[in-house]
Amino acid sequence: MNTIIFASILGTVLALSNSKPVLLTFGPQKLPPSLVGQVLRHGDPSRQEIALTFDDGPGPQTEKLLAILKKENVKATFFEIGCHVADYGKMIKEMPNQGFEIESHFYFHENLSTKSLAQNQTEVAESFKSMQGMGQKLLFFRPPYMRYSTRTAEAAKEVGCAIALWDIDPRDWSGISAIAIENAVVSKIHNGAIVLLHDNHENTLIALPVIIKKIKEKGYKFVTLREMFQQK
Ligand SMILES: [Zn+2]
Repeated sequence: MNTIIFASILGTVLALSNSKPVLLTFGPQKLPPSLVGQVLRHGDPSRQEIALTFDDGPGPQTEKLLAILKKENVKATFFEIGCHVADYGKMIKEMPNQGFEIESHFYFHENLSTKSLAQNQTEVAESFKSMQGMGQKLLFFRPPYMRYSTRTAEAAKEVGCAIALWDIDPRDWSGISAIAIENAVVSKIHNGAIVLLHDNHENTLIALPVIIKKIKEKGYKFVTLREMFQQK
């Protein structure tokens, strides 16, 4: 049986058989039809919720990052580079059941803006393959370097996905201090914000507990992207 279909059926069974709420990051989920193939930069400005997102994993620092998030009881979304997933399969398989959402940063982490539709489709297909057996269907793709074209959106649309960008970017990859990262996020936080961070930079890990504390103090709820964009 196709792994994605099996995971969907399993998720449905769990949802039906258990009166407790089932983790929204697990099981069968689809985007609302109006969002398929769209480019999304933020959630609903009327809801006091934000999504932390982490690009460029999985990697050697991901476990540390997950430990911080678990300690703070905060959900987050991870945009994984497909060609790195196999090296961290065991860790990634556990993430959906821990409240973390796994999405795709495409397969080779390349600039997609100059690639043909067929090349974009290959990136999408390889990304899906890399996530097979991880217990979660992909719903979002995030283009590396924010370089994409209408062909990228088309390739995502064909598989029922959307392009997920962000509206808060502290540029944590650029070598800035932990305090600068923290200020860049906390000073711009707003309803429906999608925050772009990376899970392979030491200063991001240092800044993260303070970012979470300050955002919690302001009263925001942390959600994953599929929670942010589910039909309400
Ligand atoms: Zn990246």
